[in-house]
Amino acid sequence: MPLNKTNKRTRQIEPEQNFKSKVGRPQDSVWEHFIKTPLSTAGHFAAECLYCEKKWTRGRPQELQVHLAKDCLNVDEETRREYIQKILQLYNDDDTEDNKRFRIEQLNITDFWDVDQNSVEPLSKQKQEAIDQCLLKAFVCCGTPFAVVENPFFVDLIRKLQPGYKLPSREKLAGIMLIHAVVRIEDQVNSILGKATNLTLGLDGWTNPSGHSIYNFIIMTHDRREFLYRLRDLSIIKHTAQNLASEIEDVLQKIGPDKFAAVVTDNAANCALARSIISEKYPFIVNTRCIAHCVNLITKDVLGKFLSIFLNYFINLLNILVINN
Ligand SMILES: [Zn+2]
Repeated sequence: MPLNKTNKRTRQIEPEQNFKSKVGRPQDSVWEHFIKTPLSTAGHFAAECLYCEKKWTRGRPQELQVHLAKDCLNVDEETRREYIQKILQLYNDDDTEDNKRFRIEQLNITDFWDVDQNSVEPLSKQKQEAIDQCLLKAFVCCGTPFAVVENPFFVDLIRKLQPGYKLPSREKLAGIMLIHAVVRIEDQVNSILGKATNLTLGLDGWTNPSGHSIYNFIIMTHDRREFLYRLRDLSIIKHTAQNLASEIEDVLQKIGPDKFAAVVTDNAANCALARSIISEKYPFIVNTRCIAHCVNLITKDVLGKFLSIFLNYFINLLNILVINN
């Protein structure tokens, strides 16, 4: 399909693909950014992003909004901002009519036990939200499975600590609460980076336990703050210097290349060449090899030598003792 100036492909809208269904509630306006293909189940559609061509076998408006707000690499900034704002409002205005379909029932800890509801002092909205955020942070940063939030022993603990607190369900914690936090944090990071200068972009790749090739793109500010800007699964592309350079360039373009002072990677051949490509195109961006990686290699070499000398000495000593006895 042809691309217009905002990278959005044009399309023919079939009468049945129009945004209002013949029956039922109007279709979510997020569908304006996706190709809808009707599924055999009435009212459900497969989706394809008009910007990056990502496909969903069944498109759900909430997932599609999240894609536009944070995952789509080709969507224009105006549309991305629109959907960031929508998601930020979604959680805060949980009670609005529009958001009712997104709301997932919360479990009240007092549902599990015989507690007199009237004796429990309800928490203020601010207090409830403050604990929600702490809970989410604790689950994410401790790597705790989200299902734990419904474990009766965990519910019991929270009930004892704060009986008025309404624990979210697993779906709500891993769904809208997590999405909201991610979008909010990304929004804050973008606003900090928007004002920053002399940035350094660092990247490294590794293979995760599922065999996927993951690359991180970390941006460091001149006052030594670090932001994980992007995590990309690059399993499906060849890790040539050219491909890595275009991934780096995409990050530079999103923030503004003139805000960057350096690009840092380890000295793998493809990474080193990718850095050179970037420095050639943007001569003001310094091509830097990661010193921490060099120190790491030197330390491994030195300790490796010492360890093998020590092990040889120890084995010889054992041999002598065995022979003498
Ligand atoms: Zn997309």
